[in-house]
Amino acid sequence: MRATLMHGRHDVRVESVPDATIQEPTDALIRVTRACICGSDLWPYNGGPNYAGQRMGHEAIGMVEAVGSEVRTLKKGDLVIMPFASSDGTCVFCQEGLPTACKSVYFIGNDQGIDGAQAEALRVPQADGTLYPIPVGEDDALMPSLLTLSDVMATGHHAAVVARVAPSKTAAVVGDGAVGLCGVIAAKRLGAERIILLGRHPDRIALAREFGATDVVSERGEEAVARVMELTRGEGAHSVLECVGTGAATDTAIAIARPGGAVGRVGVPHYDTVPLAQPMFFKNVIVGGGPAPVRAYIADLLPDVLEGRIEPGRVFDRTTDLDGVAAGYKAMNDREAIKVMVRP
Ligand SMILES: [Zn+2]
Repeated sequence: MRATLMHGRHDVRVESVPDATIQEPTDALIRVTRACICGSDLWPYNGGPNYAGQRMGHEAIGMVEAVGSEVRTLKKGDLVIMPFASSDGTCVFCQEGLPTACKSVYFIGNDQGIDGAQAEALRVPQADGTLYPIPVGEDDALMPSLLTLSDVMATGHHAAVVARVAPSKTAAVVGDGAVGLCGVIAAKRLGAERIILLGRHPDRIALAREFGATDVVSERGEEAVARVMELTRGEGAHSVLECVGTGAATDTAIAIARPGGAVGRVGVPHYDTVPLAQPMFFKNVIVGGGPAPVRAYIADLLPDVLEGRIEPGRVFDRTTDLDGVAAGYKAMNDREAIKVMVRP
């Protein structure tokens, strides 16, 4: 079969690899019907830590081709959403709704021995606790939006939940990538009255406005902070969704939070310490977040996708087959595409 491997900076290739197989009795084997390239895939693409030979891709919808002897809830022919992390569904953290902290968690396409989803097929560990069956055909028109439930829509939702978005409140979203755009959808869905997007790309800003952003701030750094303060009577935003993962974005997120407000961080941090400890303390700002517990959110978000109330699949503005994956990485890295869908 064919799969995507990262070899080094700006060097991602699709190669022939041994076929995926069932290895554990709790595994499922899926044929990948949709995958995509994530903003977080661009960190290794730009020379991030030792990714040589890493199988890429952690978002997918797939058709179950085979299951191990202990899999109880899935069968061949089921179409499933694959969250970016596997979880057993039974440990204490899964029971508490935090499957990304599962005692047997694997991060797909990141952990040793767990391959990636930008491929024709994939072995998924702990299939019963990980995969989520969906009641549609594999070429359903909703497929792009359903695919976002494997990561970006659930991640934007997580930022909104952690940031305590609520009706009649002001939310600010830092970042206009796919997660930030889904954060706008999530903030609106949870009732925010005002949604301020901090972003700079005209195509993304236009989409954010359609998703519900009421104000756009395209300045950066201190100027961005000043602009948000102007928009909020000098008070700041009740809820801030940090959807980038750089120290500068986190600085901004904390600086624009209103006293007593909350910051939800979902950008994978590329810094060692959370900045602005002083304003965080003196404003009584709550800062939280982490990998979205995607598997726990799907049941809540899926009806809104199936019934057309939200359309997060609009973040995909390019589709490719496996032959075009390297070009897809380049397009996202050059900001020529928001998010690229892969049809293996
Ligand atoms: Zn668990």
